Formats: sequence, C-alpha cells, structure tokens
Amino acid sequence: MFWVLLLVPAVIISAVAFKLLFHEQERINLTIITSLTERAEIIASNIHIIVREVEKSLSQALIDIKPEQLEPTLLLWEETNPLIRNVYIWDKQNLLEYPLKGMASTLEERQFITRFDSIFVTGKAFDTDSQKAESELSIDSQSSKESLYDLAKGKTIKKGNVQTMFTPQSGWIPWFAQDQLFILGWVKKSRDGPVYGVELELASLLSRLIPDLPQIKEKGISFAILNSRKQIMHMSGDTAVEDAQACDIAVSLSNLLPHWQVCIYLDRESFTQGKGFLYVSVLLLFIFMAAIISGGLLLTSQTRKHMKDAMQKTSFVSSVSHELKTPLTSIRMYAELMLDGRSKSIEKTKHYLEVMVSQSQRLTRLINNILDFGKLEQGKKIYNKRAVDLSQLLAIIIDAHGIRIKKAGFEIKTDIGEPKINESSFMVISDPDAIEQVVLNMVDNALKYAGEGKFIAFKLENDSKDFILLKISDHGSGISKTHQKAIFEKFYRIDNSLTSTFPGSGLGLSIARQILRDLDGDLIFEPVPEGGSCFIARIPKK
Ligand code: ADP
Repeated sequence: MFWVLLLVPAVIISAVAFKLLFHEQERINLTIITSLTERAEIIASNIHIIVREVEKSLSQALIDIKPEQLEPTLLLWEETNPLIRNVYIWDKQNLLEYPLKGMASTLEERQFITRFDSIFVTGKAFDTDSQKAESELSIDSQSSKESLYDLAKGKTIKKGNVQTMFTPQSGWIPWFAQDQLFILGWVKKSRDGPVYGVELELASLLSRLIPDLPQIKEKGISFAILNSRKQIMHMSGDTAVEDAQACDIAVSLSNLLPHWQVCIYLDRESFTQGKGFLYVSVLLLFIFMAAIISGGLLLTSQTRKHMKDAMQKTSFVSSVSHELKTPLTSIRMYAELMLDGRSKSIEKTKHYLEVMVSQSQRLTRLINNILDFGKLEQGKKIYNKRAVDLSQLLAIIIDAHGIRIKKAGFEIKTDIGEPKINESSFMVISDPDAIEQVVLNMVDNALKYAGEGKFIAFKLENDSKDFILLKISDHGSGISKTHQKAIFEKFYRIDNSLTSTFPGSGLGLSIARQILRDLDGDLIFEPVPEGGSCFIARIPKK
C-alpha cells in the first residue's frame, strides 16, 4: 500500500512534468525559429525596399535624359556608373539602335543582345498596356500606392482609358538566361519615341546593398543570400556551411529579384545547447523525485524501527514481569510456609531459607541486569579496573554458584588452570564485578536452555599475548544458524511467546557483549560440534 501510494503519484507527476518540459522546449525552439524567420523577412524586405528605390531613381534619371543627348548620356553611364552593365536604345522600326548587332559591338554587348533577343524582337515587354507591363506596375503594394498617387496627380495608367497626353512610361523586367537572373530597365518617354534603358549590374548592386543590412550576431547562426542557382552571394555569421542548399530557414528575397533567397543556417551543436533548459529541468525533476522516494523510504524504515521498538518494549515488559514474578512467588510461598509453622524440623527451615536466599539472589541479578542495561545504553556504566586473576575469579564464582548449578542437575567441568596469586598466566587488568556479571549471565542461560546436556564447562585459554579466552559451554540443543547473530541484539529471544518455557528479558547476552566491548574485549558464539553452545568471552590482558 505504501509503495502504491508513493510510487503511483511519483510516476504520474514525473510523466506529466516530462511531457510539459518537452512541450516547453519545443515551444522555445519554435519561438527561436519564428523570430529568425521574422528577421530573415526583415532582411528580405530591406533588400526589396533598397532595390525598388534604386530602380525608381534610375527610371527617373532615364526619363530625365534629354532626347538629343540620349545616346551620349547612356554611353557615359555605361562607362562610369557601376550599377549599369549595359545600355540600349530600341526603336519599333529599326529594332535595336544601340548596341548594334554584328562585329561593331563588343563581346559583352553581343551577349547582351543574345540574352534579351526575344524582348528586342517583339518589343511586347515594353508595352505598358500589355499584361506583362501591367503586372510590372502592380508588382507590390507600393506600386499600387504609386498608381494611386499618379491618379491623384491627374495621370492615368489604366488600360483602355483615353489618354489625353502621353505620360512617360517605365518598367523593370527580371530576366532569366542561362539559369541566371538579369534585370532590364526600360523607359518610353514619348508615344513615337524610342524605348531605351539599362541592364543592372547585380553584383555591384548587391555589394553596395549588403553593408546596410541588419546583421545576425548570435552564436551558431549564419545568414546568406542565395541567387537563383542556389549559390551563396553573400554570407554573414560564424557557422561553417557545407551545403548551401541545406538551409534551416529560407525566405524569398523579393519579387524584384525572383528565385533569390535569404537563408538562415543553424549550427546543430549550438542549437542543441539551447536544450539546456530541458536538461536542467529534467535533472531537477530527477533530484526532486529522488528526494521524494528516499524521503518515503526513510519514513518507512523509521516507522518500521519504531514499530519494532514498540513491540520489543511490550514483550520486554511482559517477559520481565514474568521473570520477576517467578522468584517472588517462591520467596513468598516459602515465607508463608514458615509463617504457618509448617517447617517443623531444622533441616526443613534451612531448606526453606536456602530457597529464599537463592531466589532473592536471582531477583538481584535480574534487577542488576535491568539497571545495567539502562546505564550501558546511556554509556554511564562505571568500571573499576584492577589486576584480576581470572582463574581465581572463576574459581570463586563456581564455588559460590556450584550448589545452585548442581541442584539444577548439572555437572561442572573446569579447565581453568591453577589459581595463583599474582603469578597466574590468566592475570588481567579488568573489572571483576563486570566479568562476574557476564559469567553469571552465561551460567543462567546454560541452566535455562541446556537442560538436556546436563553439564556446564568453564575453560580459560591464552589466545595471544594480548587476550585471554574464557569459554563457557554446555551440551544443550544449541542455537540454529539463523539466530546466532540475532541473540546478541537487545530484547531478542528465540522463543518470545508468553507461553515460553523459560522466562527471560532478552537482555542477558546483549548486556554481556556490551560490557566486554566496553572493556575492549568481545563476546562470541561458537556452536559445539557434538551439540550445544559455547560462549567465548575475549578479555584483554591490559
Ligand atoms: P534471555 O535469556 O533473557 O532470553 P539472553 O540475551 O540471555 O536473553 O539470550 C537470548 C536468547 O538466546 C535466549 O532467549 C535463548 O533463546 C538463546 N540462548 C542463550 N543462551 C543459550 C544457550 N546456552 N543455549 C541455547 N540457547 C541459548
């Protein structure tokens, strides 16, 4: 249930957040593309305006030429004006007056004639009444505005209108020859006069036009002007362009320069760097989700720990009360027997008193354990270290508790060396009371849990030059592998039920191990091969 409550919302939130983030990144990319397209359009419209202005000025200049100075003026322009590639004079009857066909002209002039041959043969393109000229005039909104101005000035350009006076007419013809764009301007000043004009030098027009164009200064973006052959005429920006045609954004330049384009190239790497927003957001999302999930995990583990603690405390209280009750009941029972005068003989009285003493000693040990547990937990237990002969200390303990052990039906085996004062090989600097508490906990456990084996063995061994091993073993049922580690945990009991045969608090082994560790030693469990348990207290010599 916990995992469902934690993971399902987390997965839903992540999925929705991912989707929103991707959507947002797409929106950002789209905004970039839109803004770049707009800039390309601005560049295109700038070029359009400039080219239109140039064309208009040239048309006006052509109209302003006096008829008698027409040829010399045009020739002078051809020579001196970098915007002009060729000039011509065309007459309906004579066709081309200038340049002349044949070897009298230069190579460039002959190419010019060939290029525009079809125009010069029919002369249709120069007729303002024809479809072509009409479309030339209404080529953009600006032209329709101009026709409006012209109307306001009393001029007329409409087809079929009766013209009272001849208005000079002009136009510009974009012309494709050999897959290349050429622009021819023409002027017709009088109804019967010649048509004359110029051919624009596009390269020079472009070179003078470009410095005034808006620049794109952003990293990873370049813009270029492509001609009708998709060749780069001009380029600005820091992106290396391998294939001129593979542009990311293309906008038609202007209808005055058909098939020319403004192209924008994006450096893929720099452009993907723009995904930084997405990467950072996804990273933050991951951190957020990790925090939620680890927080959830921490909470569960804490809750489980608290639940375990609570259960342990409950079972501790019930098992301790059970363990306290047993000796108290015996003491009370024997005291009441004596009070009732049932102990007729001295032996009986002695027996009753012995039971009462041993039971009250058991009670004391139990209470000491509980009190010590509190001190050990808080690290407040005080140890009084002095030179102790372990062999002698064990002999005293066995002597004091021998009767109790034997009465429980246990045989005592010892291998603890000869107790000698000062010179024993089992001399240690330690707290004898603490060690006695450890030994008695082991003995009590053996008496409780190893009834089948009926013997308890004490052994002292030199482990190394620094440690002595005190081994207490029995021949009981032993401890299965699964419990061998856990028995040292506080409150842990193998049989923790209230109906358990043996009362206990689950504190004995954890206290014994803690005491020995405080004294720089340790308590280890070792199974006895023939069956039974062996607890080894590792006591440092110094
Ligand atoms: P308690 O004896 O109060 O239950 P302990 O910490 O002394 O608590 O022991 C923990 C558990 O280890 C006991 O409940 C018992 O099951 C097991 N145990 C301890 N000593 C022996 C032993 N000598 N033989 C078999 N089992 C033992």
